[in-house]
Amino acid sequence: MSQDLIEKSRKYLWLPFTQMKDYDEHPLIIESGEGIKVKDVNGKEYYDGFSSVWLNVHGHRKQELDDAIKRQLEKIAHSTLLGMTNIPATELAERLVALSPEKLTRVFYSDSGAEAMEIALKMAFQYWKNIGRPEKQKFISMQNGYHGDTIGAVSVGSIDLFHHVYGPLMFDSFKAPIPYVYRSESNKPEVCRDDCLKQLEHLLIEHHDTIAALSIESMVQGAAGMIVMPEGFLSGVRKLCTKYEVLMIVDEVATGFGRTGKMFACEHEGVQPDLMAAGKGITGGYLPIAVTFTTEEIYQAFYDDYSTLKTFFHGHSYTGNQLGCAVAIENLRLFEQDQIIKQVTQKAQILHELLQPLMELAHVGDIRQLGFMCGIELVQSKETKESFPKTGRIGYQVSLKMRELGMLTRPMGDVLVFMPPLVSTAEELQAMVNIIKRAIEEVTEREL
Ligand code: PLP
Repeated sequence: MSQDLIEKSRKYLWLPFTQMKDYDEHPLIIESGEGIKVKDVNGKEYYDGFSSVWLNVHGHRKQELDDAIKRQLEKIAHSTLLGMTNIPATELAERLVALSPEKLTRVFYSDSGAEAMEIALKMAFQYWKNIGRPEKQKFISMQNGYHGDTIGAVSVGSIDLFHHVYGPLMFDSFKAPIPYVYRSESNKPEVCRDDCLKQLEHLLIEHHDTIAALSIESMVQGAAGMIVMPEGFLSGVRKLCTKYEVLMIVDEVATGFGRTGKMFACEHEGVQPDLMAAGKGITGGYLPIAVTFTTEEIYQAFYDDYSTLKTFFHGHSYTGNQLGCAVAIENLRLFEQDQIIKQVTQKAQILHELLQPLMELAHVGDIRQLGFMCGIELVQSKETKESFPKTGRIGYQVSLKMRELGMLTRPMGDVLVFMPPLVSTAEELQAMVNIIKRAIEEVTEREL
């Protein structure tokens, strides 16, 4: 049975972000999950060390979440949000607005983080047109940024490996530098931060008249390799956006819903975005719901008689899906009941202590962490910070070894990603860190 399924997967599927030749060599089919583990069709169990791509909160098959979906299913699975609404989408909107930074008072639903970003970009663009400043059409985005894979989101992204090939399809955006302290000349957070803010200000001085918005991940650049921004950077960007009349779009798709120890990572710096995208953990990792938050000021710029054509002409078939919104409401109730934010804050400290000994390994150059979002950068030489040769795909090899040892994750180049479900216990964190350590040792020692 399992071999038959594996053959079918090889024959019919095309998987996201996957060189299918790699998949053919290392096929994997998940059959079930329980708590923070998943099981494949051969009965082998794995820790979900990357929360099924950064989104699981309460573990798999959480009874309350399963029940919320079943209860909703007794009423209706889906009806449209075009020109009307439904009960869970309405109730969830109220809860989300209450949880989000104060200035954000409206929510617009979609189905993925990329769409939530796409919507934020289009809203920002049209906002200026609607208020009579159509010359503000351009965007500033951050070097190494990642906001998803639709063309708009890719246009404000800048991970060369993913985005380069689509260059001719993208709209231009100005790129501002990001403080990647480990790879900066000074290696000092404040110096690196101030230098980047200065460069951003130069860009704004020169171009602010034509700039609609700036897009930035919140506190951590995930796909770039878990690059944690130094204290004062995000709030510095906020100040500059305000000073130069540029809307600030904050991407909380990866960082939102408790991942960094706050409900939204921008709370670490008291930042109030003008637009904010969220997704992933919103349903506890169950169903595809995403959301774009906006201020009342932006909302009001679209509110008028139909004949003015200020309407936001954007929507998706499954926007505001009842099953997704129902499970999101239950997820938020569990956040409160189980004090998830407090749990993450406390266990992040334990995780920090568990990870520190890895710095002693010969090829661990840097460990970056904010809450339950961790990256371990592997280097050939700790002294010179020289990377491993690209052809060796060291991050991929170590992640394959982890799989063999019973834990799933996906690297970002040479950076190992560790983002366990937020309910992982101290013992489970220890067991997963043990696997990471063993995998790094076995692979890098073999490489030597
Ligand atoms: N924005 C950020 C910061 C992300 O990390 C991701 C996905 O990892 C996205 C957007 C895209 O989200 P989705 O995969 O749901 O489209």
